[in-house]
Formats: sequence, C-alpha cells, structure tokens
Amino acid sequence: MCGIVGYTGPREAYPIIIKGLKRLEYRGYDSTGVALHNSGLKVYKKKGKVAELEDAILGKDLHANTGIGHTRWATHGEPCDRNAHPHSSASGRLAMIHNGIIENYGQLKQELVNKGYTFSSDTDTEVLLNFIEEIRNNNSCSLEEAVRVALKRVTGAYVILLLDADDPETIIAARKGSPLVIGVGKGEHFLGSDASPMLEYTKEVVYVNDYELAIVKPDELILKNLGNEKITPYVQKLDLELAAIEKGIYEHFMLKEIHEQPQTIFDCLRGRLDAEAGTITMSGIQQYAEQIMNANRIIMVACGKLARRPRS
Ligand code: GLU
Repeated sequence: MCGIVGYTGPREAYPIIIKGLKRLEYRGYDSTGVALHNSGLKVYKKKGKVAELEDAILGKDLHANTGIGHTRWATHGEPCDRNAHPHSSASGRLAMIHNGIIENYGQLKQELVNKGYTFSSDTDTEVLLNFIEEIRNNNSCSLEEAVRVALKRVTGAYVILLLDADDPETIIAARKGSPLVIGVGKGEHFLGSDASPMLEYTKEVVYVNDYELAIVKPDELILKNLGNEKITPYVQKLDLELAAIEKGIYEHFMLKEIHEQPQTIFDCLRGRLDAEAGTITMSGIQQYAEQIMNANRIIMVACGKLARRPRS
C-alpha cells in the first residue's frame, strides 16, 4: 500500500504534499516523489524516506500551486530512484503517480514497444502512462478522454493522479480498487489515499468510487464515470480530528494505539452496552441473531498481528 497526495489551489503545493506524505507514512513505502507545476512539470523522486527527498531537493525552486506526491511500495521493479513515482510520459508533457497494480501491463507494454516506445523504469505505471499518452496523440483528444479510453482496457487496481504540462491548474484522477479521497476547500482541492493529508484544511470530503474519474481544478470538481456521464459529488463531513491521526506525545503509532485502547474500547461499546440494564445491543448483527444461535460452527476472520509474549 503506498500513499498519494495532490493539491491544486492558491497555496504552495509542495509543503502540503510533503506534510501529507508524512501523514501517510504509516502505510509503509520504499521511495518518495513529487511532481510540481512550475513553468512546466518538475519531477523529483528518490528511493528512501520522505525526509530524505526533502533534504535532497533543499534549495531548489519548489514553488507551485498544483502538484502531486507519492510514496511507493514496489510491485513492479525494484525500489530505486528510477522506478520511483511520479513517472514522466515519453513526451515529458505528462506526469503520473499510481497506487496499485496494472495486471495486463505486459500486453500493453508489448503494443507500445512495437510502436517504438522505450521505457526508463520497470514499472507497470510507466506503461499505463504512455498508453494514455499514445491514445491522446492518436486521437487528438483531451487527456480526460484518453484516460477514460485507456482505463477501459486496463485490468487491475489503481488510483492514478495525472498532471499535464499544458494545463497547470488541473489534476486528473481515477480509481478502481485503491482508495481516493478528495477534500473540498474554498477555491482549492486536496487529494489523498485517506483524509489525513487534508484534515487541517477542510472537513468536507468526497470519496471517489470505483470506475470514477475526477477532473480537479481549484474552483471545480467534476466527477464522471467511464461512460463520460457526470456524477454529482457526494460531499461528506469528516468526523475526524487531527489529534486522532498524529503520534502526539508517543514515539510510535503502536505505542499510541496501546495507550488509546481503553478509550477505543469505550467508544466501540458506546451505544451498544447498557451497563445499568445489563444489555448489549449489537445492531449490525441483530438480524442474524437466529442464524448465529443455530450455527454449528463459527469461524472468526481477522487481520493484524497478535504480539506473543515470550515465555519466561
Ligand atoms: N505498481 C506500481 C509500482 O510498482 C505502484 C506500486 C504502489 O502501489 O506503490 O511502481
């Protein structure tokens, strides 16, 4: 699982993106990168932590009002600078970040190689990006149209964010299978793998659904399905405070979670446990109570890790 962040609006994009990527660090990653609209597209990327990228590009002109950032968890190609995102298209006019896996990238790559394309990374992402560019060039269509056509050929899971050198205020985004949240501000929009990168700027968010494409500009958010039909964005209010996602006084997130357990359990039981009446109301499973009572076998499925205490 990697992280993606995007911003378009009147603020400086770079600090928002870097801070957002740091918030997404809990997801794990091996490389970091950003693409900024700064008199054309500037791409900076590197194997390693977000802080290492920051150090490496200290002193560069990072001014931009639109940009995207990525933390990569390699699936296609080793973790290295070359394979880090964002990737640039063959013409250098497009930059893209991607979270997920393009399953049929081999077939698409072969088609592009036959047309004379060469690749500077081993990633499935660079294949999809050039496939999009090829469609745009061939059909002289808009980027949005090219993305739609390309995604109809793609199997796999993705969130993609794209920048176009010729359209300095727009981010094109699409999702299938991987999460994408868009934060709606006043004359600005934020994009993220979850809401944590945008929490201090806005509490209004849109969760993009599978097979949806977003055209994101500072003042406008257009959502469409892959059939080019417009969808009204469903803006929800976030019920999450900054303190809940920051490490606070704790050195590690795990330590914070351990200390938060009493409150978390209290919150979970709130509205379910009535200690005075001695009742528990499990509304989610109430309708299945009879089946559960009559079950011969109950299988419990979970994810995560149980820390085993060493035997003394
Ligand atoms: N499949 C892409 C790659 O290997 C994206 C991986 C990710 O989700 O970070 O670069």
